[in-house]
Amino acid sequence: MSGRRLNDPAELAARIRKGDRAALARGITLVESSRADHQAQAQALLTMLLPDTGHAVRLGLSGAPGVGKSTFTEAFGTYLTGQGYKVAVLAVDPSSSLSGGSILGDKTRMELLARDPNAFIRPSPAGRTLGGVARRTREAMLLTEAAGFDVVLIETVGVGQSETAVADMVDMFLLLLSPGGGDELQGIKRGIMELADLVVVNKADGDLVPAARRAAMEYKAALHLMRPKSAHWRPDVLLASALKGIGIVEIWEAVSAYHKALGEAGEIASHRATQAQAWMWTEIREGLLTSLKANNEASRLIPALEAEVKAGKTTPTLAAQRLLALVFGRSGG
Ligand code: GDP
Repeated sequence: MSGRRLNDPAELAARIRKGDRAALARGITLVESSRADHQAQAQALLTMLLPDTGHAVRLGLSGAPGVGKSTFTEAFGTYLTGQGYKVAVLAVDPSSSLSGGSILGDKTRMELLARDPNAFIRPSPAGRTLGGVARRTREAMLLTEAAGFDVVLIETVGVGQSETAVADMVDMFLLLLSPGGGDELQGIKRGIMELADLVVVNKADGDLVPAARRAAMEYKAALHLMRPKSAHWRPDVLLASALKGIGIVEIWEAVSAYHKALGEAGEIASHRATQAQAWMWTEIREGLLTSLKANNEASRLIPALEAEVKAGKTTPTLAAQRLLALVFGRSGG
């Protein structure tokens, strides 16, 4: 494959549509690049491919480190490719630029899937802001859809805002938990439980089966107290053992049932439309912040204004207006 021709977005788009993996990888590299020329090429590419997107089941997967996300992805992904589906696995991990890329970076627990011709695994892009990392993953998701992937699984670590970012780009959000029971329930932020369309208690094998059953009952009770996100779906709790391959079929059945119910109600489409609109505003916010930081005068002024605001010498509103005026040439508000 000629690298030169892959610099042409139209050529790249044609190859991605045919499912060419090298072209897909190249497209994602463009999307992830911070170089202005790459960004322009990436946007040209995405614009051409937009009509080819939207056909995948978009799944989010979250869980604390060690709960079994990689093991689950291997089991679930190979089950799906065995059923004839093409599966893409992406990740959102804003800490990866600090930690050197943990999530999906180590594929030893996904040996089969990593070698599967019908699977495509891409670790989290590096990035300093969650917004930047999330955007790149969203755009990578669109490219994998255009390349004909049927299921896109987007993973994140269960440690904060990245769950919300992932929930904002998928159709269905899976929360993976371990059989820790009540103690663990305390530690899980209520907000994360509220995001879940399906809770999976993993490691329901061997000695852990009774604890997993107890935990599942507690999570069910907790979910029952929450207002469902859709009138057409009640979040459920399933038991699984990613290690032993138990419960994988049932999880896929639940995902399919969810997609069917919400799809028929028109909610998948309306949800995606709302997500795209919200994404535009996220981009506007990110863009404004970038312009602000790129403005020399403003960036020189920021530390002083921050100090004044902290010391109570000026109001946050006035400080913000001064900075915005430098970017827009007038005071805001
Ligand atoms: P991640 O950090 O969430 O990606 O978790 P990993 O997939 O790396 O798994 C963490 C540890 O839990 C590993 O030692 C796995 O072998 C183990 N593990 C994962 N799934 C299961 C399971 O279903 N049952 C048991 N008993 N152990 C599991």
